[in-house]
Amino acid sequence: MLTLRFAAIVTICLSAPALGGCETTTSGGSVGADRKQLMLISSQELDQTSAQTYAKLLSDASAKGVLNRDQAMLARVRAIASRLEPQTRVFRPDAPGWRWEVNVINSNELNAFCMPGGKIMVYSGLISQLRLTDDEIAVVLGHEIAHALREHSRAQMSQAIAAQSAIGIGAALFGLGQGSADLAGVGYQALIATRFSRTDEAEADRMGLELTARAGYDPRAGVTLWQKMIQVSQGGRPPEFLSSHPAEASRVQEIQALLPTVMPLYTAARGR
Ligand SMILES: [Zn+2]
Repeated sequence: MLTLRFAAIVTICLSAPALGGCETTTSGGSVGADRKQLMLISSQELDQTSAQTYAKLLSDASAKGVLNRDQAMLARVRAIASRLEPQTRVFRPDAPGWRWEVNVINSNELNAFCMPGGKIMVYSGLISQLRLTDDEIAVVLGHEIAHALREHSRAQMSQAIAAQSAIGIGAALFGLGQGSADLAGVGYQALIATRFSRTDEAEADRMGLELTARAGYDPRAGVTLWQKMIQVSQGGRPPEFLSSHPAEASRVQEIQALLPTVMPLYTAARGR
């Protein structure tokens, strides 16, 4: 069954150019981010669902009195995000024009995410408990923004749809609404608590580091950030953030290996 599903996805990917099922959402930048993805749901549909889910999250947080309680922290996070947002142009020209939103939930949780279409949420615990520097916050935001730029959630849902049945694939590809039917049921898990693949994670690290550097934040903070993450994952209950973004020594090594590529971008940004 697994083989059959895999074969179905491969077949679609090979035959899809005519149908528009396989595409890349980004151009490569300096770090190379133009892998082809299977896309069976439209961006518009997902962005709409994302905006609704985000609005619900905001109103729930507001009702509990935990939305943007710390004005200084909010201003800090928004300032960093606003320097990263224009840099997204290097990967996709449409992204600087997204309806970006940045908010902070007051919580002990260590978490942050950027939903499809640029809806960013940071949980205050991540910043206060790990004592993140501005550079480290930029790395976190850059990483999360990269997931949105590459539309990893959309690709993941598309694969789930493709795995369901050959009829489902056909219906979605030809716009017969199978995608919409599945999209209605995605909700929280798929958009907020997405568990990304190792490939997605590595890609988000690479792109996020380039965004960080281009925005004039020190990409070497990627190393210290993940060292802090590894440390916190070793004691007690692992934070929510780490269930979707495993902190591993290999991750730090990959980031270190990428520094020669992104440091010149940082130096150039600082010089401007
Ligand atoms: Zn991630």
